[in-house]
Amino acid sequence: MITQKIFDDTETAFKLKSNEDLNRALFLFGMINRPSLVKIGTYLTKVSLKLHLPVEGLIKKTIFKQFSGGETMEECMKVIEKMYTKKLHSILDYSVEGKVEEAQFDAAMQKKISIIEFASEKKELPYAVFKPTGIGRFEIWEKVSSKDTLTKEEEEEWERVKNRVDLICNAAFKNDIGVLADGEESWMQDAADDLMEEMMKKYNQEKAIVFNTLQCYRWDRLNYLQALHLKAKAAGYKVGAKIVRGAYMEKENERAHKMGYPTPICESKEATDVSFNGVLAYCLAYIDDISLFVGSHNEMSNYLALQIMEDKNIAINDSRVWFSQLYGMSDHISLNLAKKGYNTAKLVPFGPVREVVPYLIRRAQENTSVKGQTGRELALLIEEKKRRKGEPTKGNRE
Ligand SMILES: Cc1cc2nc3c(=O)[nH]c(=O)nc-3n(C[C@H](O)[C@H](O)[C@H](O)COP(=O)(O)OP(=O)(O)OC[C@H]3O[C@@H](n4cnc5c(N)ncnc54)[C@H](O)[C@@H]3O)c2cc1C
Repeated sequence: MITQKIFDDTETAFKLKSNEDLNRALFLFGMINRPSLVKIGTYLTKVSLKLHLPVEGLIKKTIFKQFSGGETMEECMKVIEKMYTKKLHSILDYSVEGKVEEAQFDAAMQKKISIIEFASEKKELPYAVFKPTGIGRFEIWEKVSSKDTLTKEEEEEWERVKNRVDLICNAAFKNDIGVLADGEESWMQDAADDLMEEMMKKYNQEKAIVFNTLQCYRWDRLNYLQALHLKAKAAGYKVGAKIVRGAYMEKENERAHKMGYPTPICESKEATDVSFNGVLAYCLAYIDDISLFVGSHNEMSNYLALQIMEDKNIAINDSRVWFSQLYGMSDHISLNLAKKGYNTAKLVPFGPVREVVPYLIRRAQENTSVKGQTGRELALLIEEKKRRKGEPTKGNRE
């Protein structure tokens, strides 16, 4: 039985943090804990950047340092190598968002391929990621999802998008790196699901290289997974399932309400938890067919995964099961899982400070909206500070 509460070990959780790092994290999560401050901060950041005020230095030293690995892949390697000394892997995520032109989509694809090639030479980097709408217009994903007839130009555009996805997955396959497609808004997701299935069929013949994201705040995801599993078995390929709860809940509910269709989102947090845990259990029950990548900061879901693995005699380091948290959050889960030998990776966003700001703002907003998450981060940080004060001679800096 997994009765020991491994995530309570703050010494392991914050082993890589100096006292200064701890204080910065405490300050930032303290700020994020106040929704009004996040609102004001968001506004001031946006305005300052627009007016070209010299705020980049300040952003870089604070929120950027907390939630981002650096501005370039090489810069990120410093924190990545440090985490790897504790057996914690990383996934580089080039977090530049909001591009809309074809040339920018081609450049984004090239960037993803260069990250895959970079990762293939680094034992610390087992996966690469991409966001479907980062390599093709949101509207084209939406239109393909709606099954409306495409114009000739749209058909050509869609072919280019499919080609970009294929080139990324092909690079991952050739370099033996897993590739994870992000999950996004439900009204573009059908097109992404279909395309990622095609990619799995093409590249997951022997093992899962290509992973699609299942957002379990959607009440239809277990059914979706079961259907996908059947198709994959019949066609003889492996399913790669990255499971998360989902980041667009408010947007989804608002749109459904406004347009008068039933929301695709579960009716409550508890229902989302049941959905997530159900999908998690399904993947582990069919581990020979489905490789699982758990993206969650939820302690209970992570404990559940460990318990099921133990019950089913799935080895702690089975290469088909991975755990992941975002850089800057839930180190108590990541570092304690890694210490026990579970395959664990931090998702490390990077990019020029100015370009990563929208991502950082979303992180801050998400933290204010995720009930309990920030409180938990704060409580653990405070506990660790107390622990360090009690043992001043041991030295906590590595
Ligand atoms: C490695 C990693 C990769 C990720 N990739 C993606 C991605 O590709 N796409 C994506 O959308 N998100 C992604 N996320 C974010 C993720 O979807 C969650 O928003 C975030 O992780 C919080 O969920 P949790 O399981 O960590 O924690 P918890 O705190 O247990 O769950 C919070 C989540 O529960 C759900 N929820 C909260 N209140 C309600 C309610 N009233 N009714 C129904 N549901 C509710 C929401 O999804 C909310 O985000 C990723 C997260 C990680 C760690």
